[in-house]
Amino acid sequence: MPEVIENARRANLDAIVLTGSDEASCLESVELTKAYPGFLYSTAGIHPHHASEFSVAETLPLLRSLCELPQVVAVGECGLDFNRDISPREQQLSCFSAHLELAAANRLPLFLHERDAHDAFLSVLREQRASVAAGVVHCFTGTLEQAKAYLDLDLHIGITGWLCDERRGQHLEEVVRYVPIDRLMIETDAPYLAPRDYRPKIKRNEPKYLPHILESVARCRGESAETLAPQLLSTTRQFFGLAG
Ligand SMILES: [Zn+2]
Repeated sequence: MPEVIENARRANLDAIVLTGSDEASCLESVELTKAYPGFLYSTAGIHPHHASEFSVAETLPLLRSLCELPQVVAVGECGLDFNRDISPREQQLSCFSAHLELAAANRLPLFLHERDAHDAFLSVLREQRASVAAGVVHCFTGTLEQAKAYLDLDLHIGITGWLCDERRGQHLEEVVRYVPIDRLMIETDAPYLAPRDYRPKIKRNEPKYLPHILESVARCRGESAETLAPQLLSTTRQFFGLAG
């Protein structure tokens, strides 16, 4: 891990938000942030894949206590994944609702995951949107229409190396052009989603590849990476409430 952090610093990253996806990874992420204060931050939440492990009696108190830590800057990742249906949909829905309440109670933004569940996801968010401060639909992979529906709810859109995938990412180009700069963020989703067009080929994704996502987004928008970077950084800092 120190090497991954060093690589990220060398790639000029200003900060990293680690993503918790189950109890163990939330605890591990928060532990890591302690070694790199002001550089590493964390989310706290249960990914829809793990929704069946979520319990109001045990998981919720843990998440509540994590949310009180200053380095925990968002609730998530949470949401709905009907693509793989690893947890039953009923459990995904109740787990997601608990996260919305958690975010509202702690005045934290939401780090949201949605795959093949747009309609259900949107209707939950429509009902609860007023109670939460902000939310990013992380690793957005949907259509322009879906992006517009999220922007109508004043949500942010997170773009990963999915954009760099010539087989399945091309439709994201119009999304990237459409999203206003104060609603757009970039992320690696490391260790997943290594950008496919990177050479030499990447075996395991790392935060250090974020500048590659930046270049791809800049190219799509017809802007220079130098102009875009500070704008994306400012949107990101504001969203997570990171000191600048
Ligand atoms: Zn996700």
